[in-house]
Amino acid sequence: MGVDVATVTDEVEQEVSTGSLPVWDQVERLAQEAHARSHLHDEGVVADYIPVLAQADPSLFGVCVAEASGPVHAVGDAAVEFSVQSISKAFVYALVCEEHGHEVVRDRVGVNNTGLSFNSVIAVELNDGHPMNPMVNAGALATTALVPGASFAEKWEHVRTGLSRFAGRQLELDGVVYRSESATNTRNKAIARLLQSYGRIELDPLEVVDVYTRQCALRVSARDLAVMGATLADGGVNPVTGERVVSGQVCRDTLAVLAATGMYERSGEWLFEIGLPAKSGVSGGIVAVAPGKGAIGTFSPPLDPAGNSVRGRLATAYLSRALGLNVFASSAQPSAQRGADEAGRGA
Ligand code: GLU
Repeated sequence: MGVDVATVTDEVEQEVSTGSLPVWDQVERLAQEAHARSHLHDEGVVADYIPVLAQADPSLFGVCVAEASGPVHAVGDAAVEFSVQSISKAFVYALVCEEHGHEVVRDRVGVNNTGLSFNSVIAVELNDGHPMNPMVNAGALATTALVPGASFAEKWEHVRTGLSRFAGRQLELDGVVYRSESATNTRNKAIARLLQSYGRIELDPLEVVDVYTRQCALRVSARDLAVMGATLADGGVNPVTGERVVSGQVCRDTLAVLAATGMYERSGEWLFEIGLPAKSGVSGGIVAVAPGKGAIGTFSPPLDPAGNSVRGRLATAYLSRALGLNVFASSAQPSAQRGADEAGRGA
């Protein structure tokens, strides 16, 4: 892994990203514009490997921006509920980091992209059973195994109440989705058993898969995703309820992982085009987070070949540009300011 960065960063104050969103009216208008522009696209295919997901209405489309200071801008089908699927991985990861700390989770689960598909078995074999990436199924199963709780019922309750605190309301299990996935998730069961064979899961692997399948079947809306993301953008405090859910350090760690791995094998391309840490799921949701500013939640079931929602990606790209969210974007200092700064430093 190389030299631990803590050797030079210990006791250095963590600066937070600066800048703010435009005024309320403008955010509202741009959220509507993002929806209108992206709505025109009907490309993509609805996921069907979990049988019930094939019944999703491809015309549904919701966009929501939640500001880290509290206001929420919801457009279109932003209140329609769907199963959170892989997006749960990001928030369960945050809960587990809160419980066990940065080093334990980094060492046990990893923070790197595998370069292979989200349900890859080969990735586990190639890395001596190390899951590598908490945003694909092997790493997510290893993460869920670390959820606190003396029994599996307690672990599930910890996940459900934790994700509900991120959303600021009680999230419910979609029993139909849960049963549909439970009946067909033989591959996830195989991955969990493989992790067990490498000693990476010490608990009953099928029980771990069951908690994971439940977490994926929690019902959320695009609005929920935006508020959940805005909690990560707001140093761990839910900007709507005011409740602290996780620490600022956990938000930073989680967003770093999302930037590297959140968008399946297109994570690099997503960062290059859109410049925001994000996570998507097979039911058509995406959450993208602008640290210190807020988050975007979208829902539209048709997916591109990488598994990311077509309209969700376009709406997020538009908002990232129009709201000035790209974390890599900067503009040169005005020359008068540059001179004053240099004089101030005695240059
Ligand atoms: N529950 C799904 C699975 O494990 C989540 C996949 C996803 O959203 O990427 O296959």
